[in-house]
Amino acid sequence: MRKFLSWLQGLFRKPSPPTEAQVALAMMSMTHEQELSCDEVHDLIDQFAEMHLRGENPSHLFPLVQRHLDMCPECREEFEALLAALEVTPSST
Ligand SMILES: [Zn+2]
Repeated sequence: MRKFLSWLQGLFRKPSPPTEAQVALAMMSMTHEQELSCDEVHDLIDQFAEMHLRGENPSHLFPLVQRHLDMCPECREEFEALLAALEVTPSST
């Protein structure tokens, strides 16, 4: 019986991978009121571009990325290049 109980508890303790939105929220709270560096924007820019292409509103989830893109021509250029590349080869079905 104890075995069965621990098995049952194991079922509910199964870790589920965080969704993109959860990752974004975690990033947001971690970097709240901080400026992102170009390196940090680099790490997020592909998610940002994919959300943009899905018709979602990435600037809502990644306001700091959006702010950085507004300020940093280099990263904005990279973002636009990435958008163009994603549009040419859509990864969705
Ligand atoms: Zn930058």
